[in-house]
Amino acid sequence: MRLAHKVAYVTGAASGIGKEIALVYAREGAKVAIADLNEDAAKAAAAEIVNAGGQAIGIAVDVTNEDQVESSVAATIDAFGTVDVLVSNAGIQIVHPVEEFTLADWRRMLAIHLDGAFLTTRACVRQMKAADHGGSIIYMGSVHSKEASKLKAPYVTAKHGLIGLARTVAKEGGSFGIRANVICPGFVRTPLVDKQIPEQAKALGISEMDVIRNVMLKDTVDGEFTTTADVAEIALMFASFPTNALTGQSLNVSHGWSMG
Ligand code: NAD
Repeated sequence: MRLAHKVAYVTGAASGIGKEIALVYAREGAKVAIADLNEDAAKAAAAEIVNAGGQAIGIAVDVTNEDQVESSVAATIDAFGTVDVLVSNAGIQIVHPVEEFTLADWRRMLAIHLDGAFLTTRACVRQMKAADHGGSIIYMGSVHSKEASKLKAPYVTAKHGLIGLARTVAKEGGSFGIRANVICPGFVRTPLVDKQIPEQAKALGISEMDVIRNVMLKDTVDGEFTTTADVAEIALMFASFPTNALTGQSLNVSHGWSMG
């Protein structure tokens, strides 16, 4: 039980990568708040954990909404006493050539990925400092935190920005035992990616199989997708690492797509 007595608040945990992290954390003994825009799916994921003998709550939150982030972190503290681990994971993807992006879509992307990371960090760091027990802050970056791809200007911009945020929070949190790190996955077959395959095929004028083989997995060492289990294993390591030796880092889990 690597997370016994720990409380984790995980955003976007009703689906995909976030859900797998919530399940793994619960299996390792954590009490988990599943915070997601999709309230029904968040409650269903929490019920899955409770039915398996774990502890979890499902909470509705839009991570771009200051009041909702504050109240959902407060609800987590009410339910479980504190917050030891934040996984800022909620995210979406919108693909267009840069000149076709509307300002509204650009702002929406930066709001979900960056405002969401800031607001959840602020709420959780305040609690970690007040409770004086340190903590682990984990941002769901991407290989796109370090590399660029066509059609993804706001996503690449936001994911690069998370590395700057993590490094700053790591410096500010050091003397309080608060660590901050970024996970940088390659492509993982989740609803977020399944939606992009036909969109990219259309935008690039190629087949869906070509999008998978020649765009998404082209630079991996073995042509394989990363899995939610791969990412959750790294999230477990960052959450359970015992010292400040591992902070301010960004770790690729991408079948070698990025080695930087
Ligand atoms: P997903 O679509 O399966 O899950 C995303 C979840 O976020 C959904 O449950 C959705 O309801 C929630 N969400 C969306 N907007 C929200 C908001 N404003 N407030 C709260 N919740 C919101 O996607 P996923 O693939 O599991 O992606 C999770 C994270 O991993 C994202 O940050 C994504 O950028 C990142 N990522 C994904 C991949 C991949 O290939 N799937 C690769 C690298 C990084």
